[in-house]
Amino acid sequence: MTITLANPVKYLKGVGPQRAAALEERGLATVGDLLSYLPFRYEDRIRFTPIAEIIPGQVHTVLAEVTGGGGGTVRFARSRGPVFHVTVRDASGMLHARFFHGAYLQGRLKEGQRLVLHGKAEVDAYRPGRIEMVNPQIELVGAGEQASGDSTEVGRIVPVYEAIGSISSRMLRRIIYGVLTQFDGSVPDALPEEIRQRYRFPTRREALLYAHFPPKDESLELLNGFRSPAQLRLIFEEFFYYQLALALRRRNERREAGMAMRVREEKIRAALKRILPFKPTAAQKRVLGEIAGDLAQPHPMHRLLEGDVGSGKTIVALEAAAIVIENGCQVALMAPTEILAAQHYLSARRIFAPAGYGVELIVSGRGRKRAEREATLGRIESGEAQFVVGTHALIEDPVKFRRLGLVIVDEQHRFGVLQRKRLIEKGASPHVLVMTATPIPRTLALTLYGDLDLSVIDEMPPGRTPVETRWTADAQLPGVWEFLRREIGQGRQAFVIYPVIEESKQELKAATAEYERLASAVFPNLRVGLLHGRLKNEEKDAVMEQFRRGELHILVATTVVEVGVDVPNATVMVIEHAGRFGLAQLHQLRGRIGRGQEKSYCILVAPKTITGEARERLEAMVATSNGFEIAERDLKQRGPGEFFGTRQHGDAAFSFAQPLRDHELLELARREAFALAENPQRADDVAARLASLNPAWQKRYQLASVG
Ligand code: ADP
Ligand code: MG
Repeated sequence: MTITLANPVKYLKGVGPQRAAALEERGLATVGDLLSYLPFRYEDRIRFTPIAEIIPGQVHTVLAEVTGGGGGTVRFARSRGPVFHVTVRDASGMLHARFFHGAYLQGRLKEGQRLVLHGKAEVDAYRPGRIEMVNPQIELVGAGEQASGDSTEVGRIVPVYEAIGSISSRMLRRIIYGVLTQFDGSVPDALPEEIRQRYRFPTRREALLYAHFPPKDESLELLNGFRSPAQLRLIFEEFFYYQLALALRRRNERREAGMAMRVREEKIRAALKRILPFKPTAAQKRVLGEIAGDLAQPHPMHRLLEGDVGSGKTIVALEAAAIVIENGCQVALMAPTEILAAQHYLSARRIFAPAGYGVELIVSGRGRKRAEREATLGRIESGEAQFVVGTHALIEDPVKFRRLGLVIVDEQHRFGVLQRKRLIEKGASPHVLVMTATPIPRTLALTLYGDLDLSVIDEMPPGRTPVETRWTADAQLPGVWEFLRREIGQGRQAFVIYPVIEESKQELKAATAEYERLASAVFPNLRVGLLHGRLKNEEKDAVMEQFRRGELHILVATTVVEVGVDVPNATVMVIEHAGRFGLAQLHQLRGRIGRGQEKSYCILVAPKTITGEARERLEAMVATSNGFEIAERDLKQRGPGEFFGTRQHGDAAFSFAQPLRDHELLELARREAFALAENPQRADDVAARLASLNPAWQKRYQLASVG
């Protein structure tokens, strides 16, 4: 009987109903899916290290058998719980191995059992004359397993898979090996032949067979670096199809009829001059030029505006809005928090007042007067409201526009793909400008927002001095408060940030309690305000407005002030429990200060003894205030998915490829895909072929969507 890609996994040898369920849950329902599940590492089990030749401090793979005395035993270590000890030997010597939480091994590692151990060898901590491995990876080897061509365990380069549920790497290897021995060998390939030839990529069939069970003479270094020809091809194709989907979507958008704005230079320049409170930076001018160029096109703009916190994105957005409003269309600006929406509303009103534009604010109905809201909705529907600012409340059904010409999404990474889409659908192909203060390395921008054009504000408004960041232990707080008092004495304002609103079991200081304490005991002579997400809208607005007007000296807050809030006179930020916050979040918070001419200070309060990633975050904050550097570090620590808060977006598009690791292939694939899309007929053919060959991929690559 032969096996084809379409065979369901549940009928495979070695796969019972339970394992089938686990595989299916992982999205591996067919043999085709299973063969796409690739090893993440390879072990050389052709040449095992004889135990006598082990070099302490290095990683070795050893083939050995359990020595006498009935096999391994469990002993209890006071601090670590049960530890499983076993001694193994080969023809050359003996090796000791310890497994923490290894009680499950009892009875499995019997005397005479053959096994492969893979791990770092060390001089035994307790008996210096002996070599040991602590928590090595192990695999039992059956008595019959010889180093023959047929063994999946020894005598070859062995693929190591990430276990799926209770299905170990070894079981997966056996199942996949079993499939390949009966496989009919038919693997359709949607990658255009000329591209395959240009890069001398193997066919998909060759690549898959090779990646699971590489020939003996393949370089382990290439394999483990994901650089063997087979792996390169499999990585490339994931990027290629993804980029092709982006290229096709972009082509379709270009075909879509949009609203071409007349950008009459003199008139608009005069209007802008009248409304702008300051001289734009060169970067702001350049970026506005790019946006204006897009707005003049007869198809909708899809542009990402990227700029570090405080680089002045808002004003560029308002300028773009002015162009659109001058063309008789409406503009919607969506912001992730009510505080930020209210702030944008206020500055838009201030700036647009001389031009006489109708500016409105829409936040969720809670706590607002009904009649007022109805009236606002009416003015949006009639077109009287020309610039509408709001939270996600903007996408609710009752909000109807008369002629929506431009959608602006601020801090766009805080929104889901669908939320952005729903706002866009309130118009007929409006122009779209999304903004982010999360500086994205170019590679990642190509991956995640590859269907967007990119504008970058890479210059800060003049006269800024970088924020000075310090890391202080709890014990130093009295000194910190003293410093705050001095700054406030000079006319400045300060933020004090806490991780939670109310006290909880976690023993974290909470904003409400600390607010009481600071206001009554520490700063009895200063005006202290409190801001957190659970306040009513009116209360939030009132506090924010007081702070903005300088009527409050200190604002005690949670991360509600994280994005966007702009009070240039605030020059000090104290962040308590700083180790609790993510790096991007700390950077955003710090972005609230250093917005004016005066020097600003960010004080991170956390124990000096803090370790691990939290320590790295704080060190990064002290070391740099450059958003791009912070983003790169954060990316390394957390990976792209979490970083962007939209896990489904970039991550799910690739099962094997990794944008950061494989960025060269990504750029190559992007070039090829966009070149192919120049030939609409060919591109559609490739896409159709891909869709018919692999419906799962078709679904996957549709995920890529408007930023
Ligand atoms: P972000 O890019 O983080 O959204 P904002 O648009 O809030 O930054 O701008 C940050 C601050 O810089 C605001 O107070 C804004 O008024 C000010 N600003 C923006 N552009 C300029 C400029 N060209 N010259 C001086 N100040 C500017
Ligand atoms: Mg902003």
